[in-house]
Amino acid sequence: MGGTKTSKWFNDLSHLVMVADNINQLKSAIPENVTLIAVSKTKPNESIVMAYEAGQRHFGENKVQEVVSKYEALPKDIQWHLIGHLQTNKVKYIASFVYLIHAVESERLLQEIDKQASKHKRIIDVLLQFHIAQEETKFGLSFEESQEILKNVDAFPNVRIVGVMGMASFVEDQQQIRSEFQSLKGIFHSLKNDFFHEDNQFKVISMGMSGDYQIAIQEGSTMVRVGSAIFGSR
Ligand SMILES: *Cc1c(COP(=O)(O)O)cnc(C)c1O
Repeated sequence: MGGTKTSKWFNDLSHLVMVADNINQLKSAIPENVTLIAVSKTKPNESIVMAYEAGQRHFGENKVQEVVSKYEALPKDIQWHLIGHLQTNKVKYIASFVYLIHAVESERLLQEIDKQASKHKRIIDVLLQFHIAQEETKFGLSFEESQEILKNVDAFPNVRIVGVMGMASFVEDQQQIRSEFQSLKGIFHSLKNDFFHEDNQFKVISMGMSGDYQIAIQEGSTMVRVGSAIFGSR
């Protein structure tokens, strides 16, 4: 074996050990009622398998094409979360297998998910994404827009809205991040009260990423989406 080859092998191996270590550390740091989603976007299947071997089953991706090819190649008991912006015309590619769609931000998208879900005779769980950050670029609904969507929700029997999702601003100011998470939690409770009072399935608050998941958990997150703190930087 040449030196270069050996050191590549060694680098790959130490990367895989790091992934397993990170999963184990996060699992012990996160309370039991909080679901850890390993965000594997851009990462190779080998890294995902390593996390899988460490017991991880929930994985998050933000591109349809990527999640489809990973779904086809990897163990079928992985629960795939589509966490990024989803185009209406691409719902059909994931409708047969997706576990949870995090970023519903229009009635049109909800309608298309309903249509594709019914073709596969299943009910697809989704979250409504809210705009909680001060930054302009973040996607998501306003509270008023969500009210309009929820008034018509009976028209979509093959989707089940199970909670809310949001992303805090990418800033240093911890207090700002905290108050953005608090606003999402407030939205969750108010929707729960007005639309899902009797519905025990409406229980997910998806918030928190590598840089801010601790604050998110303190503020009531039930699902954290962690990428670089598991797999390294992208
Ligand atoms: C990439 C991504 C994450 C994970 O980000 P990290 O900072 O790597 O943990 C979480 N949520 C969404 C919507 C993402 O696109």
